[in-house]
Amino acid sequence: MLDWQAVDTVLLDMDGTLLDLHFDAHFWLEFMPLRYAQRHGLDPATSRDPLIERIMSERGSLNWYCLDYWSRELDLPIAELKREVADRIGYRPGVEDFLAALRRSGRRTLIVTNAHRDSLSLKVERTGVDQLVDAVICSHDFGLPKEDVAFWSKLQQVEPFDPGRTLLVEDSEPVLESARRFGIRHLLYVAQPDSQQPARESDTFETVHDFAEVMPPQ
Ligand SMILES: [Mg+2]
Repeated sequence: MLDWQAVDTVLLDMDGTLLDLHFDAHFWLEFMPLRYAQRHGLDPATSRDPLIERIMSERGSLNWYCLDYWSRELDLPIAELKREVADRIGYRPGVEDFLAALRRSGRRTLIVTNAHRDSLSLKVERTGVDQLVDAVICSHDFGLPKEDVAFWSKLQQVEPFDPGRTLLVEDSEPVLESARRFGIRHLLYVAQPDSQQPARESDTFETVHDFAEVMPPQ
């Protein structure tokens, strides 16, 4: 299990780790494809699958997370559309208690996200999650997604941290893998990023089902 005595910096992913991924899944897989079909005069039943395939082909790249890119590509005001379903944005269970305990324990806490600034600002507006941590870092500012091992040294230049004494909590195995290659020692995989989907253990990384299991000692 996690040795808190060996951790003084905690890096936290946002979507699927602190916030329920259900919002993003609903937006990209249901709501946006419907609006896309309406906008372009297509049948939603037949246009959805090729559209999702096109979106998935950018997975892991910065384009995948870039609202400007998709607004251009799909000729849709993506940031505006997100606001229409923003009531689905919310915390995962136990997150506020976990962040409060981290703060009380005196460890440095950073949100490290691949989310686009517009996407981040909508989520911050709805949840105030930025107020529960010490800083928020957007990978777009470095021009590299977290999946790229070079991302972590860029992060270190603005936020010095000792990889041997850092914990990363994430719902993406490729990101955990890139962090491990960089040398981040403590890694936790989130079992149920989307409240509407079943939980899943990682074969590679220690899996957390409930933040109550990994509360830092006070
Ligand atoms: Mg995530």
